[in-house]
Amino acid sequence: MNQHPDISPARLPELLRRMPKAELHIHIEGSLEPELIFELAQRNGVKLAYPGVEALRRAYAFTNLQSFLDIYYAGASVLLKEQDFYDMAWAYFERAAADHVVHAELFFDPQTHTARGVAMRTVIDGLHRACEDARARLGVDGSLILCFLRHLSEAEAFATLEEAMPFRDKFIGVGLDSSEVGHPPEKFAGVFERCRELGLHLVAHAGEEGPPAYVWTALDTLHVERIDHGVQSVKDPALMKRLAKDRIPLTVCPLSNLKLCVFPKLEDHNLKQLLDAGIVATVNSDDPAYFGGYMNDNFLQTFAATGMDARHAYQLAANSFEASFVDEAMKKKWRAQLDEVFASFE
Ligand SMILES: [Zn+2]
Repeated sequence: MNQHPDISPARLPELLRRMPKAELHIHIEGSLEPELIFELAQRNGVKLAYPGVEALRRAYAFTNLQSFLDIYYAGASVLLKEQDFYDMAWAYFERAAADHVVHAELFFDPQTHTARGVAMRTVIDGLHRACEDARARLGVDGSLILCFLRHLSEAEAFATLEEAMPFRDKFIGVGLDSSEVGHPPEKFAGVFERCRELGLHLVAHAGEEGPPAYVWTALDTLHVERIDHGVQSVKDPALMKRLAKDRIPLTVCPLSNLKLCVFPKLEDHNLKQLLDAGIVATVNSDDPAYFGGYMNDNFLQTFAATGMDARHAYQLAANSFEASFVDEAMKKKWRAQLDEVFASFE
């Protein structure tokens, strides 16, 4: 850990807000706020099962991953045109910029859209155009990671990859999301092998609700570079050692874990334990519209609940840069910005 012991706890919230950070675990469809869902529904003539914004927001009381996914897929049904995907991503980038996010790697779920008859091009072009505008107008660097829905078959994942190949220059990697339990990583060994040959970055959700065994197979069968969530790894000391030794980043999402009852209280979250074990853990918002907060909400609430300090803040920001899929020159630039902000607080 870096040494920043002179920053008083009273100034910690402002430091957390102001420090530059990267977000590596954000499902862009999970950033759709109820207001935008209704706006897009109206624009596209889509009928929703909820009478209004407040009724939809009230339905966001989840008991587990599946109860969330049911509403998540309903919300995504309003996305039909390229401009819809652009507007969704742009709204996220504006919030990210306000939280001093300098880099974001956005997950998107093409199967959620292609299954409804939306063309792959519509999805990727809209999201990619928002990434370009975010870089030019907000100074936020953004890239896209295509996720396969793990409750569907590997054959469907292969078909999705095939469909996305004409747009290979517009996404940097692939991931694995949706219902975890019962759908272990190894179900997708073949398609991840193919993606590796194509030079795509590889990540996968594992150890959110699923067991440490899923984290092992994500590493050793899929050969992923990062684990999304991974909080169940603390149950397996050998796995904890492996993650620390190989510097495998975990993209942890505290408010998501709270909302989906992975931990009963934020005070019980194991983020500090992961950091103290030398693991490259990061803080992320997952599906911020549904889980009650964007990046800075995640930082502020988790720090308030777990008693982490300025050293942990520095480590989390530095980890987010180390874990990102950008070149060393960009990482160096962001680390210098991080040092500058910390120095200004001392
Ligand atoms: Zn996720």
